[in-house]
Amino acid sequence: MNGQDAIALTRALLQFNTVNPPGRERDCARHAGALLEEWGFKVDYHEYEDARTSVIARAGGSDAKPPLCLTGHLDVVPLGARPWSKNPFASETDGDRLYGRGAYDMKGSLAAMLEAARLVAGGGLAAGELVLAFVIDEEYQSLGTADLVRRETADAAVVTEPTGLEVCVAHKGFVWARIETQGRAAHGSRYDEGDDAIVRMGHVLAAIDRLEREVLPRRPHPLLGRASVHASTIAGGLGLSTFPDRCLVEVERRTLPGERDEEIAAELNRVLEDAARVSPRLIGRVEVLLTRPAYEIDPGAPVVRALVESIRAVHGRAPRLIGEFPWFDAALLGAAGIPTVMFGPQGTGAHAAEEWVDLSSVVTCAEVLADLTVRFCGSAP
Ligand SMILES: [Zn+2]
Repeated sequence: MNGQDAIALTRALLQFNTVNPPGRERDCARHAGALLEEWGFKVDYHEYEDARTSVIARAGGSDAKPPLCLTGHLDVVPLGARPWSKNPFASETDGDRLYGRGAYDMKGSLAAMLEAARLVAGGGLAAGELVLAFVIDEEYQSLGTADLVRRETADAAVVTEPTGLEVCVAHKGFVWARIETQGRAAHGSRYDEGDDAIVRMGHVLAAIDRLEREVLPRRPHPLLGRASVHASTIAGGLGLSTFPDRCLVEVERRTLPGERDEEIAAELNRVLEDAARVSPRLIGRVEVLLTRPAYEIDPGAPVVRALVESIRAVHGRAPRLIGEFPWFDAALLGAAGIPTVMFGPQGTGAHAAEEWVDLSSVVTCAEVLADLTVRFCGSAP
């Protein structure tokens, strides 16, 4: 294949500023959709408020259920506080590295999906339908994938998040929660009337520390290591001469596959009980704010085995099966009953200043995705 095509596609996608918030993925989505229409795909645009658009494209097949869905997100994270040495939207290169916000996470991947689509469309798709989804908002609320799984199903999916050309079969989830301790406001001199909500929270924080250091390390996952918890934000206090009436801490608990939301809520309530043993009459409560499940797929699943074979065929080496710590949209697809695996190019700098993708890995990724589509949908590139 001509690697220049995949590289040109990556450069073109990087020109669109899809920093989320606010996202504004529409122009980037229309660009991808127009190419896919040109190559014979049937393209649907799903419009959301504020210039946001997801693209779902399909070709080939007559089955009721498409065998394969390739999916990636159009949005990218903000530039961050640190200055960039390169223009984040100008596709500057240094050797094999292409720099830019989203080059690695994940417009290189989207370019690989497009190039794979172009290759298989040229050869004519046969038995099975290939579905490609370019979705909005993965970096914030995953509105795009949440909507995708309401509209579409498939026998298998590949989320093309960058994995360094390895095969990712597991990722962590998370629970965000707010813990509140109550106190009693009083003049700072009135120790007999006041109850210090912040000091009470100190005992809660110590109990969180015990959970983090003593309990969570006991049950590691073979690919994801241990679960973890940390305090993310803290607020409280009315003034230097006043007893604080309440204190709020937001915590993040990173979860492993198999850990259920109810179990985490119960665990955080036990943290309050643990704190109350040291600080009797502590009044507190836990409120779960948002949960995202962890995900794992059986390494023996057909899509994993086929992907490993495709990588071996294209790249001449067996990939490693890996786990990733962050949360991904794969969990939403998995929860919708679609066996999902993650595979994408090499690079670095996701969510950091100085982000780049290795262009030759984008080309390899495109070839692997095309090969996988042949295996699943019976087409010939
Ligand atoms: Zn991503």
